[in-house]
Amino acid sequence: MTLGKACWMKFKFRYVDDYFPIERNKNLTLGRVVHEAFELHYRGADKDSIISHISRRYKEEMAKCEMTDQEALIIDRATALGMWMNNPFIRERYDSVEVEEEKDIPFIGRTRLIYKMDAKVKLNNHCWLIERKVTSQDKRKFDNFCRTSSQVTNYIFAERLTGQSVDGVIFECIRRPLLRKGVTETADEFARRITRDYNVRPDFYYDRKIAYRSQDELDLFAEDTKKLISEMRRRIRKNEFYRNTDHCWAFNSECPYMKICFSKIPDPLLLELYYVKGGGHNDNRIEERQSGQS
Ligand code: SF4
Repeated sequence: MTLGKACWMKFKFRYVDDYFPIERNKNLTLGRVVHEAFELHYRGADKDSIISHISRRYKEEMAKCEMTDQEALIIDRATALGMWMNNPFIRERYDSVEVEEEKDIPFIGRTRLIYKMDAKVKLNNHCWLIERKVTSQDKRKFDNFCRTSSQVTNYIFAERLTGQSVDGVIFECIRRPLLRKGVTETADEFARRITRDYNVRPDFYYDRKIAYRSQDELDLFAEDTKKLISEMRRRIRKNEFYRNTDHCWAFNSECPYMKICFSKIPDPLLLELYYVKGGGHNDNRIEERQSGQS
């Protein structure tokens, strides 16, 4: 649904044609690795094994990429380590923390809501969903995002639909660094400076924000979602999709369908090289993150 709202042509490539990009967006690696670190922590892994996990994940990424991308990954790895090692969120005390599995619940007709939150926590008989965001947004922009994010509304709506009592969503925000590499600085020196900066300026990098949704907001979300679903069905039936070129570079990265989007008939060689058929329906989570931050 998020994809349809952003660009109907992207929706078509992904869910109608079923082309799944083989190379995942490198800009999403950082968010993914940091999320994995939290998940491992809440599943009981110790500090050293989480740090080894982060390093191993980047080693794997480096093995797949061109030499020209290696420097960016060295810097990204240092960022992920800085983000993880200095985060204040794991010191929060709750009565219980549950790492969430993917949920798939019926909505209307054959339509299902498929989603995965980062965690569910309980404190003093109140229940909260946890959503972690790795973002470049400053505090004001991030606060605004939390106020209206459909991702949050979707989570609270879906949980209440299954009879769960959920008060709201706690956002744990981790900012990307804004540091610039010095002219004489090597990639390793710059990487070390980034890791240190997370330790020196935690107030800049970490933020915690609670988002609520009123019953009116949840009802309006349900109405809007029903309309969107019927629009989606109509477009699929009539094969009616169009490009929203303002979305091609959303979130500072190139749309994964750029290679085939601007020719009337996609080049079969490009299709074979960059996409695989049939993998798209198993990756709702990634799409969700692209829609917010990573
Ligand atoms: S390249 Fe742009 S227009 Fe084409 S699918 Fe992606 S976002 Fe849409």
